[in-house]
Amino acid sequence: MRHDLLEICYLIGSVTFIVGLKMMGNAKTARKGNLIGAVGMTIAILGTIFLHSGPVSMTIFGLIFGAIAIGTIIGWLTAKKVQMTKMPELVSMFNGMGGACAALISLIEFNHLMQEPDVHASYGTMVAIVAGLIIGTISFSGSIIAYLKLNGTMNKPIRLPSYNVLNTIIMIGVFAFGAYIVATGGSMMLVSLLFIAAIVYGVLFTVPIGGADMPVVISLLNSFTGLAAAFGGFLYDNKIMLTGGILVGSAGTLLTLVMCKAMNRPLSNVIFGAFGGGAVAEEGNSTKGTIKDITVSDLAILMNYSKRVVIVPGYGLAVAQAQHVIHELEMLLEERGVEVKYAIHPVAGRMPGHMNVLLAESNVDYGKLVEMEEINPEFENTDVVLIVGANDVVNPAALNNPSSPIYGMPILEAYKAKNIIVNKRSMNAGYAGIENDLFYDPKTSMFFGDAKKALTELVAEIKTL
Ligand code: NDP
Repeated sequence: MRHDLLEICYLIGSVTFIVGLKMMGNAKTARKGNLIGAVGMTIAILGTIFLHSGPVSMTIFGLIFGAIAIGTIIGWLTAKKVQMTKMPELVSMFNGMGGACAALISLIEFNHLMQEPDVHASYGTMVAIVAGLIIGTISFSGSIIAYLKLNGTMNKPIRLPSYNVLNTIIMIGVFAFGAYIVATGGSMMLVSLLFIAAIVYGVLFTVPIGGADMPVVISLLNSFTGLAAAFGGFLYDNKIMLTGGILVGSAGTLLTLVMCKAMNRPLSNVIFGAFGGGAVAEEGNSTKGTIKDITVSDLAILMNYSKRVVIVPGYGLAVAQAQHVIHELEMLLEERGVEVKYAIHPVAGRMPGHMNVLLAESNVDYGKLVEMEEINPEFENTDVVLIVGANDVVNPAALNNPSSPIYGMPILEAYKAKNIIVNKRSMNAGYAGIENDLFYDPKTSMFFGDAKKALTELVAEIKTL
């Protein structure tokens, strides 16, 4: 009876995960989908605590609920307080914690096995323990480095000599070591060494990645965490861990493939450490000529009398929290007969889907968000492209400079528009840390200032026309 009830809890949990994930595919239903998944997870956790085994001592209950309380308070407060622009770091950190949990499960379960020398663990159990340990640990240490890179603490890729060969050797070494432990039964000492080796590999795997390539790594680490949790599910024969892990693992893998496509990088490059191409961001070599800027009144006239305007949102839009005023600008222009669309680059911002989420917050019609492949052929017939806080995603170096760290990445071809307006605060570089020739294009005018403030002035000016 108890077991049946628990299985029902897990079934409810699994179904809510799938329904929730499906709902997250659309900005309108995403919030509800997240909530439904969380409810399912709560049911599964409570089911496990109260129905999984026989009577449990009050001390154990105290420890479990104490840990849940601490985790809930920390998680709730950080998620509540975090600014939208810091969200990617938070997601990276949470992902790392998931990897750490999977690794700890493996360490603890291996320790249990060692304490019962009469019990002979099957190969299946050993594989689940060792694979969960390796993948969870890589995800943990890699995500911590990703966190430091996203918050700017580690803003330069660190590349040891022949780092790709070195990384590949270490990766093969870690997995070979794991296979040895599975084959021989290992010891706590060997498993601890494997844990340390996997931490080192996770760090070495992530530190050389720079330029604009972080999105691929973030989604790959995400899929690692899912995979590691799924191994935990095998280990405990726990359906909900298995379903949850497989969903995260497969969603992360699909996202990685989408991101690879967006960055035009083969997946093998990511896994075997040749990622980033070897080109290092060059800084401040301004050979580009002069820039010109535009006043708010000239820009208001230009936009008001245009037929077609494309807005390119980027990370700076999120920093400035200018999503509401940009929607106001769009509506104002549309009222005056201007056709307005948003061009969405798959890696704009600092997390996959960042621009979609941001613009959904201000109720921009989803139909107005046009993906890169679809909008690129339209730039030629665009009167004004207004680039707001975007930089790398419109940088022509990706197309014409083989020595650039972003070379090969598809971009929004804003340079083809008749007039190019760039709103940013200064001539500073974007995430990839490189110059952008687009700013020196004779068709480009810089509209300097914080996006929210500058666009508010622009809206006010257009209203006077
Ligand atoms: P970028 O990081 O290339 O550029 C953002 C620009 O916004 C900066 O040049 C900055 O210039 C400007 N800016 C900052 N604050 C403001 C503000 N308040 N008002 C106006 N402008 C502002 O952004 P993109 O979106 O073009 O590209 C995203 C980059 O991040 C890519 O390199 C991508 O690979 C990387 N990345 C993406 C992830 C993802 O999953 N989407 C994850 C990790 C990295 P200034 O300081 O002069 O104002």
